[in-house]
Amino acid sequence: MKSYRYKLEGLDCANCAKKVEEKLASTDGFENVNVNFSTLKLSFRTEKYENDKNLKNIVEEIVRKVEPDVNVIENSNKEINEKTERSNVDIIRIIIGVLVYFLGMKSNLGKGFSLIFLIISLVILLHKIVPKAIKQIVKNKSLDENALIAISAIGECFVDKAMEGIMVITLYEIGKILEAKAISKTRNSISSLMDIRPEYANIKDKEEIKKVSPEEVKIGDIIVIKSGEKIPLDGIIIKGEAEIDNSALTGESELINVKEDSKVLSGGINVQGLIEVKVEKLYEDSTVSQILNLVENATDEKAKTENFVSKAAKIYTPIVLGLAVLVAIFMPIFFKGVTYQESIYKALIFLVISCPCSIAISVPLSYFSGIGKASKRGILVKGSDYLDGLKDIKQIVFDKTGTITTGNFKLSEIKSFNEKYNEKEILEYFVMGESYSNHPIAKSILNEVKNEDIDIKQVRDFEEIAGKGLKYKIQDKEIIIGNKSIMNDNKITSNQEEGTILFLKINDEVVGSIKLIDEIKPDVKTTMKKLSDLGIKTKMFTGDKKEIAQKIAKEVGIKEVKYEMLPQNKYEELEKVLQGKKPSEKVAYVGDGINDSPVLARADIGISMGGVGSSSAIEASDIVIMTDELSKVIEGIEISKKTNKIIMQNLVISIGIKLLVFTLTLFGLSDMWEAVFADVGVTLITVFNTLRILR
Ligand code: ADP
Ligand code: MG
Repeated sequence: MKSYRYKLEGLDCANCAKKVEEKLASTDGFENVNVNFSTLKLSFRTEKYENDKNLKNIVEEIVRKVEPDVNVIENSNKEINEKTERSNVDIIRIIIGVLVYFLGMKSNLGKGFSLIFLIISLVILLHKIVPKAIKQIVKNKSLDENALIAISAIGECFVDKAMEGIMVITLYEIGKILEAKAISKTRNSISSLMDIRPEYANIKDKEEIKKVSPEEVKIGDIIVIKSGEKIPLDGIIIKGEAEIDNSALTGESELINVKEDSKVLSGGINVQGLIEVKVEKLYEDSTVSQILNLVENATDEKAKTENFVSKAAKIYTPIVLGLAVLVAIFMPIFFKGVTYQESIYKALIFLVISCPCSIAISVPLSYFSGIGKASKRGILVKGSDYLDGLKDIKQIVFDKTGTITTGNFKLSEIKSFNEKYNEKEILEYFVMGESYSNHPIAKSILNEVKNEDIDIKQVRDFEEIAGKGLKYKIQDKEIIIGNKSIMNDNKITSNQEEGTILFLKINDEVVGSIKLIDEIKPDVKTTMKKLSDLGIKTKMFTGDKKEIAQKIAKEVGIKEVKYEMLPQNKYEELEKVLQGKKPSEKVAYVGDGINDSPVLARADIGISMGGVGSSSAIEASDIVIMTDELSKVIEGIEISKKTNKIIMQNLVISIGIKLLVFTLTLFGLSDMWEAVFADVGVTLITVFNTLRILR
């Protein structure tokens, strides 16, 4: 089973996207089919057609059964040309159509001539709508908007209301053109928001420099990044110095100084300087690809609101259809003076109003905008549901190390309890063990002690004990490193000291210890304050000892704290929290993804810190905060609330206007004009409203 992605060109309505999706899903051999109207992407899994060279054509053939004008093209991130030229042609066509009609009316050549002009005008105006409508009738045996508009316009022309008929078509056509423009504008603003894709890499081949596409660069190649250029691939600097702007990845605008041996991430911009970088990851594994994939796939999964809307549409449409039929048949019977002509016309108006397009288009676009906006701010959201869920968070559990604290421990003290080992040797045993761990403690120790003489290759049987420490063997010695819980030594008494104390045990004897000091991140206190202002309860779960846990919790303003926890304790405690909440409330867990992936996965919303360069954190959680700032949680909640507000506004606008026009029509106070407005006009308003999320 393999996943494939294509782009769909010429898919111009949200409903069509749904139809394509349903068609492909019901075809044998295709699974997990998804058509994303916001990104115009089609994704599916298939076993039957795996590696089939003809797959694209097979898919295209199926897609065209429901949407004959759609092209299936390779998934690239180039913007699809949204056919603006064609819409200009359309505008001219509409103007000519209207002119022809007026010409026929105003010229005094008699009724016959007027009629001929009217027919020509109708042909010009309807030449796109009618074929579309007929295709729909033939292929799907259903009337769509196009058919309704065409029938009603032609109908009006026959009952001597030609002027109205022409205007209705004109309004509808112009509305559709504006709608397409608005949607493509939204799409483009979102994609330019996420425009972090590098176009090329300068590869250095001996002394020559060649421009190639980032996909062609191999691991170990040397690339040159000049000032003003985007970093195309992740790597390590081998020559030069530069100032890097990583804001596209993290939302953080502060420049970073890098020099030889510093790592650089794709997606960053070299603001000043010239560097040579040895590539460490293929383009498809690079930071930039990871982020783009994540954000693009994010809206594939439909949010609950979206599902609700599509379910509602399934009930709503037949109800309106039924009402229309009732009106058409019974109105003349119950109301004197209402003719069948009028009642059928009313029914047509109902049908035009009934299209749920504005909702079907604006809801997914809103989520897409929200996710795009969040990613610009350094918050990667992996699905519409998680974005939606942020606003419902009532409790947040925080991990300590690397989440509330920086996780950059400073070595403050080395102690030896046995004269056989001096402080330098004690430290060496730590370095050897921690070289194999990727815990923040390990990284900090290795950062603090730069000793290349230590031969870590002698280390055997390394084993990490989550939440406690680690074990290894070297020569005939058995080494244990970690906190007091792993030492099993009652000589170690609980100490009130500040800092994380780690012990070293060699062959059953505790021979020394080191003390590490961690700092609280600068924005934690204000974040906790804001969270409590929002009515969100905060908790801290940590593997660290009681004294430190309580001190830090108090300092940042967290009331509930649980300490000396192993990863499985965290899971059990979180389970209790989840059990005690209402179903509509959400519980988030914020951690670093190092040893808390189970809790990140179990929480309603798992938020991980510092995704830049760490793929484990990206995988383990639902939301990744690219900077290490906790305040991003608040920002995410705000974006979620704003997105939700706009979706609700759009629902109210759409349903409100439709109901209004519906009622007015029933009482004979409104006409096809208003109906067209309630259809296309409302879609336009909602799409423009969606754009406000990006601001
Ligand atoms: P937190 O819940 O604060 O993120 P962890 O569960 O990651 O903490 O770790 C808990 C404790 O386990 C640490 O404070 C430390 O004492 C010990 N520990 C974990 N990993 C290591 C390691 N690689 N080396 C030494 N000690 C470790
Ligand atoms: Mg941790």
